[in-house]
Amino acid sequence: MAQLGVVPTGSRYDLHSGLSPDAPDESELADDQEGAFGYVHSYETSSRYDGPGLRAVLFVSGCLLRCTYCHNPDTWHLKDGTYVSARQVVDRLGDFASALRSLHGGLTISGGEPLVQLAFTRRILAGAKKLDLHTAIETSGFLGSRADDDYLAHLDLVLLDIKSGDPETYRKVTGRELAPTLRFAERLAEIGKPAWIRFTLVPGLTDDPDNVDRIARFVAPMKNVEWVEIQPFHQMGAFKWKSLGLEEKLAETAPPSPELVNRVREQFEAAGCRAR
Ligand code: SF4
Repeated sequence: MAQLGVVPTGSRYDLHSGLSPDAPDESELADDQEGAFGYVHSYETSSRYDGPGLRAVLFVSGCLLRCTYCHNPDTWHLKDGTYVSARQVVDRLGDFASALRSLHGGLTISGGEPLVQLAFTRRILAGAKKLDLHTAIETSGFLGSRADDDYLAHLDLVLLDIKSGDPETYRKVTGRELAPTLRFAERLAEIGKPAWIRFTLVPGLTDDPDNVDRIARFVAPMKNVEWVEIQPFHQMGAFKWKSLGLEEKLAETAPPSPELVNRVREQFEAAGCRAR
Protein backbone atom coordinates (compact mmCIF):
# COMPACT_ATOMS: atom_id res chain seq x y z
CA MET A 1 0.00 0.00 0.00
CA ALA A 2 1.30 3.46 -0.93
CA GLN A 3 2.54 5.76 1.79
CA LEU A 4 0.09 8.49 2.80
CA GLY A 5 1.39 12.05 2.46
CA VAL A 6 0.20 15.37 3.84
CA VAL A 7 -2.30 17.43 1.82
CA PRO A 8 0.03 20.03 0.26
CA THR A 9 -1.05 23.63 0.73
CA GLY A 10 0.55 26.16 -1.58
CA SER A 11 -0.20 27.41 -5.05
CA ARG A 12 -1.25 26.00 -8.40
CA TYR A 13 2.03 27.45 -9.67
CA ASP A 14 4.21 25.25 -7.43
CA LEU A 15 5.87 22.45 -9.36
CA HIS A 16 5.20 18.93 -8.05
CA SER A 17 6.88 15.96 -9.64
CA GLY A 18 7.46 12.26 -8.98
CA LEU A 19 5.91 12.22 -5.49
CA SER A 20 4.06 8.90 -5.93
CA PRO A 21 6.16 6.82 -8.32
CA ASP A 22 4.03 3.70 -7.72
CA ALA A 23 0.76 5.38 -8.77
CA PRO A 24 -1.18 3.80 -11.63
CA ASP A 25 -1.31 5.48 -15.00
CA GLU A 26 -4.21 7.94 -15.09
CA SER A 27 -5.64 6.28 -18.21
CA GLU A 28 -5.86 2.92 -16.44
CA LEU A 29 -6.99 4.08 -13.04
CA ALA A 30 -9.01 1.53 -11.16
CA ASP A 31 -10.56 4.10 -8.84
CA ASP A 32 -11.37 2.20 -5.67
CA GLN A 33 -15.12 1.98 -5.24
CA GLU A 34 -15.05 3.81 -1.95
CA GLY A 35 -12.81 6.65 -3.14
CA ALA A 36 -11.11 6.67 0.24
CA PHE A 37 -7.71 7.59 -1.20
CA GLY A 38 -6.42 9.58 -4.12
CA TYR A 39 -3.70 11.79 -5.56
CA VAL A 40 -3.65 15.55 -5.16
CA HIS A 41 -1.43 18.34 -6.43
CA SER A 42 -2.19 21.14 -3.97
CA TYR A 43 -4.75 23.06 -1.98
CA GLU A 44 -5.05 26.86 -2.09
CA THR A 45 -7.58 29.61 -1.49
CA SER A 46 -8.77 32.04 -4.13
CA SER A 47 -11.64 34.41 -4.68
CA ARG A 48 -14.15 34.82 -7.49
CA TYR A 49 -11.93 33.25 -10.15
CA ASP A 50 -12.74 29.63 -9.22
CA GLY A 51 -16.38 30.13 -8.27
CA PRO A 52 -18.43 32.55 -6.17
CA GLY A 53 -17.06 33.97 -2.92
CA LEU A 54 -13.93 32.76 -1.17
CA ARG A 55 -12.93 29.32 -2.46
CA ALA A 56 -10.81 26.51 -1.18
CA VAL A 57 -9.44 25.08 -4.41
CA LEU A 58 -8.22 21.51 -4.46
CA PHE A 59 -6.10 20.58 -7.45
CA VAL A 60 -6.30 16.85 -8.03
CA SER A 61 -3.92 14.85 -10.17
CA GLY A 62 -4.73 13.07 -13.40
CA CYS A 63 -5.86 14.37 -16.77
CA LEU A 64 -6.33 12.65 -20.13
CA LEU A 65 -6.06 15.83 -22.18
CA ARG A 66 -2.76 17.42 -23.17
CA CYS A 67 -3.65 21.05 -23.77
CA THR A 68 -0.87 22.94 -25.47
CA TYR A 69 -1.50 25.89 -23.13
CA CYS A 70 -1.86 23.89 -19.90
CA HIS A 71 -0.31 25.82 -17.02
CA ASN A 72 -0.34 22.73 -14.77
CA PRO A 73 1.30 19.87 -16.73
CA ASP A 74 2.47 18.52 -13.36
CA THR A 75 -1.17 17.51 -12.73
CA TRP A 76 -1.38 15.25 -15.78
CA HIS A 77 0.00 12.15 -14.09
CA LEU A 78 -1.13 10.60 -10.82
CA LYS A 79 2.49 9.75 -10.06
CA ASP A 80 3.33 13.45 -9.72
CA GLY A 81 0.71 13.96 -7.01
CA THR A 82 0.67 13.29 -3.26
CA TYR A 83 -1.26 10.23 -2.08
CA VAL A 84 -3.73 11.28 0.62
CA SER A 85 -7.02 10.14 2.09
CA ALA A 86 -10.31 11.86 1.34
CA ARG A 87 -10.73 12.14 5.11
CA GLN A 88 -7.53 14.25 5.34
CA VAL A 89 -8.81 16.57 2.61
CA VAL A 90 -12.24 16.99 4.22
CA ASP A 91 -10.73 17.50 7.68
CA ARG A 92 -8.52 20.25 6.27
CA LEU A 93 -11.56 21.81 4.63
CA GLY A 94 -13.37 21.69 7.95
CA ASP A 95 -10.64 23.90 9.48
CA PHE A 96 -11.76 26.88 7.44
CA ALA A 97 -15.33 25.93 6.50
CA SER A 98 -16.88 28.63 8.66
CA ALA A 99 -14.76 31.33 6.95
CA LEU A 100 -15.75 29.98 3.54
CA ARG A 101 -19.43 29.98 4.50
CA SER A 102 -19.33 33.49 5.91
CA LEU A 103 -17.68 34.78 2.71
CA HIS A 104 -20.30 33.04 0.52
CA GLY A 105 -17.75 30.64 -0.91
CA GLY A 106 -17.00 26.97 -0.79
CA LEU A 107 -14.96 24.20 -2.37
CA THR A 108 -13.85 23.98 -5.98
CA ILE A 109 -12.11 20.85 -7.20
CA SER A 110 -9.88 21.56 -10.16
CA GLY A 111 -6.86 19.84 -11.57
CA GLY A 112 -5.95 18.01 -13.54
CA GLU A 113 -9.39 16.62 -14.16
CA PRO A 114 -11.67 15.85 -11.19
CA LEU A 115 -13.54 13.16 -13.16
CA VAL A 116 -10.40 11.00 -13.51
CA GLN A 117 -10.58 10.16 -9.78
CA LEU A 118 -14.36 9.99 -9.71
CA ALA A 119 -14.94 8.08 -6.46
CA PHE A 120 -12.33 10.12 -4.61
CA THR A 121 -13.72 13.49 -5.68
CA ARG A 122 -17.28 12.27 -5.07
CA ARG A 123 -16.36 11.50 -1.49
CA ILE A 124 -14.73 14.91 -0.99
CA LEU A 125 -17.72 16.70 -2.51
CA ALA A 126 -20.05 14.75 -0.21
CA GLY A 127 -17.88 15.79 2.74
CA ALA A 128 -18.05 19.43 1.65
CA LYS A 129 -21.85 19.26 1.44
CA LYS A 130 -21.94 17.89 4.99
CA LEU A 131 -20.03 21.04 5.99
CA ASP A 132 -22.78 23.01 4.25
CA LEU A 133 -20.41 24.40 1.64
CA HIS A 134 -21.11 25.49 -1.91
CA THR A 135 -19.40 23.01 -4.26
CA ALA A 136 -17.97 23.22 -7.77
CA ILE A 137 -15.68 21.34 -10.10
CA GLU A 138 -13.66 22.67 -12.98
CA THR A 139 -13.72 20.14 -15.79
CA SER A 140 -13.04 19.78 -19.49
CA GLY A 141 -16.16 17.61 -19.72
CA PHE A 142 -14.23 15.01 -21.72
CA LEU A 143 -15.12 12.39 -19.08
CA GLY A 144 -18.55 13.90 -18.42
CA SER A 145 -20.30 10.58 -19.06
CA ARG A 146 -18.61 9.26 -15.92
CA ALA A 147 -20.42 11.80 -13.76
CA ASP A 148 -23.66 10.04 -12.80
CA ASP A 149 -26.72 11.80 -11.39
CA ASP A 150 -25.55 11.20 -7.82
CA TYR A 151 -22.23 12.88 -8.59
CA LEU A 152 -23.93 15.89 -10.15
CA ALA A 153 -26.27 16.12 -7.16
CA HIS A 154 -23.22 16.92 -5.00
CA LEU A 155 -22.43 19.94 -7.20
CA ASP A 156 -23.83 23.46 -7.02
CA LEU A 157 -21.86 24.69 -10.01
CA VAL A 158 -19.86 23.27 -12.89
CA LEU A 159 -17.02 25.30 -14.40
CA LEU A 160 -16.91 23.76 -17.85
CA ASP A 161 -13.99 24.46 -20.15
CA ILE A 162 -15.00 24.49 -23.80
CA LYS A 163 -11.60 24.84 -25.30
CA SER A 164 -12.74 25.28 -28.90
CA GLY A 165 -15.92 25.19 -30.97
CA ASP A 166 -14.29 23.73 -34.03
CA PRO A 167 -13.59 19.99 -33.60
CA GLU A 168 -10.33 20.17 -35.51
CA THR A 169 -9.02 23.06 -33.41
CA TYR A 170 -10.14 21.22 -30.27
CA ARG A 171 -8.09 18.20 -31.31
CA LYS A 172 -5.10 20.43 -32.05
CA VAL A 173 -5.39 22.12 -28.63
CA THR A 174 -6.13 19.05 -26.47
CA GLY A 175 -5.28 15.90 -28.45
CA ARG A 176 -8.86 14.68 -27.85
CA GLU A 177 -12.35 14.92 -29.35
CA LEU A 178 -14.76 17.81 -28.72
CA ALA A 179 -18.02 15.81 -28.84
CA PRO A 180 -17.98 14.43 -25.23
CA THR A 181 -17.66 17.97 -23.86
CA LEU A 182 -20.61 19.20 -25.90
CA ARG A 183 -22.71 16.22 -24.78
CA PHE A 184 -21.87 16.98 -21.15
CA ALA A 185 -22.79 20.65 -21.63
CA GLU A 186 -26.15 19.60 -23.11
CA ARG A 187 -26.80 17.29 -20.17
CA LEU A 188 -26.06 20.06 -17.68
CA ALA A 189 -28.47 22.31 -19.58
CA GLU A 190 -31.20 19.63 -19.57
CA ILE A 191 -31.06 19.24 -15.80
CA GLY A 192 -30.62 22.96 -15.18
CA LYS A 193 -27.26 22.59 -13.40
CA PRO A 194 -25.68 26.04 -12.98
CA ALA A 195 -22.58 26.36 -15.14
CA TRP A 196 -19.87 28.84 -16.04
CA ILE A 197 -18.35 28.19 -19.44
CA ARG A 198 -14.67 28.94 -19.75
CA PHE A 199 -12.79 29.62 -22.93
CA THR A 200 -9.03 30.12 -23.07
CA LEU A 201 -8.13 32.67 -25.68
CA VAL A 202 -4.82 31.91 -27.37
CA PRO A 203 -3.68 34.17 -30.22
CA GLY A 204 -3.16 32.19 -33.39
CA LEU A 205 -4.68 29.01 -31.90
CA THR A 206 -8.24 29.54 -30.57
CA ASP A 207 -8.96 33.13 -31.65
CA ASP A 208 -10.44 32.41 -35.07
CA PRO A 209 -13.83 34.22 -35.21
CA ASP A 210 -15.58 31.09 -36.48
CA ASN A 211 -14.13 29.00 -33.63
CA VAL A 212 -15.46 31.53 -31.09
CA ASP A 213 -18.81 31.87 -32.86
CA ARG A 214 -19.42 28.14 -32.72
CA ILE A 215 -19.09 28.12 -28.93
CA ALA A 216 -21.16 31.30 -28.58
CA ARG A 217 -24.04 29.93 -30.66
CA PHE A 218 -23.94 26.59 -28.82
CA VAL A 219 -23.97 28.14 -25.35
CA ALA A 220 -26.31 31.12 -25.88
CA PRO A 221 -29.62 29.17 -25.61
CA MET A 222 -28.53 27.40 -22.40
CA LYS A 223 -30.46 28.92 -19.50
CA ASN A 224 -28.25 27.22 -16.89
CA VAL A 225 -25.14 29.07 -18.09
CA GLU A 226 -24.55 32.04 -15.81
CA TRP A 227 -21.34 33.31 -17.39
CA VAL A 228 -18.98 32.76 -20.23
CA GLU A 229 -15.51 33.55 -18.95
CA ILE A 230 -12.75 34.45 -21.36
CA GLN A 231 -9.40 33.41 -19.96
CA PRO A 232 -6.49 35.13 -21.69
CA PHE A 233 -3.56 32.82 -22.38
CA HIS A 234 -0.50 33.50 -20.20
CA GLN A 235 2.97 32.07 -19.76
CA MET A 236 2.91 31.57 -15.96
CA GLY A 237 3.13 27.80 -16.32
CA ALA A 238 5.94 27.88 -18.89
CA PHE A 239 8.62 27.05 -16.34
CA LYS A 240 6.83 23.77 -15.58
CA TRP A 241 7.01 22.69 -19.22
CA LYS A 242 10.75 23.40 -19.20
CA SER A 243 11.33 21.65 -15.86
CA LEU A 244 9.41 18.55 -16.96
CA GLY A 245 11.30 18.42 -20.27
CA LEU A 246 8.13 18.92 -22.34
CA GLU A 247 8.13 20.50 -25.76
CA GLU A 248 6.60 23.97 -25.43
CA LYS A 249 4.56 24.51 -28.57
CA LEU A 250 3.47 27.96 -27.42
CA ALA A 251 6.84 29.22 -26.19
CA GLU A 252 6.71 32.19 -28.58
CA THR A 253 3.00 32.98 -28.11
CA ALA A 254 2.17 36.26 -26.37
CA PRO A 255 -0.97 36.86 -24.28
CA PRO A 256 -3.90 38.28 -26.28
CA SER A 257 -4.12 42.05 -26.63
CA PRO A 258 -6.97 43.89 -24.84
CA GLU A 259 -8.46 44.56 -28.30
CA LEU A 260 -8.57 40.83 -29.07
CA VAL A 261 -10.14 40.04 -25.69
CA ASN A 262 -12.77 42.73 -26.36
CA ARG A 263 -13.52 41.38 -29.81
CA VAL A 264 -14.10 37.90 -28.42
CA ARG A 265 -16.23 39.20 -25.54
CA GLU A 266 -18.34 41.15 -28.04
CA GLN A 267 -18.76 38.00 -30.13
CA PHE A 268 -20.15 36.12 -27.12
CA GLU A 269 -22.40 39.03 -26.17
CA ALA A 270 -23.68 39.43 -29.73
CA ALA A 271 -24.79 35.78 -29.62
CA GLY A 272 -26.70 36.46 -26.37
CA CYS A 273 -24.21 35.20 -23.75
CA ARG A 274 -23.26 37.01 -20.56
CA ALA A 275 -19.51 37.24 -20.98
CA ARG A 276 -16.66 38.57 -18.88
S1 SF4 B 1 -7.74 19.87 -19.26
FE1 SF4 B 1 -6.79 21.33 -17.84
S2 SF4 B 1 -5.30 20.12 -16.67
FE2 SF4 B 1 -5.87 18.90 -18.46
S3 SF4 B 1 -4.30 19.39 -19.99
FE3 SF4 B 1 -6.02 20.78 -20.34
S4 SF4 B 1 -5.56 22.65 -19.19
FE4 SF4 B 1 -4.20 20.99 -18.41
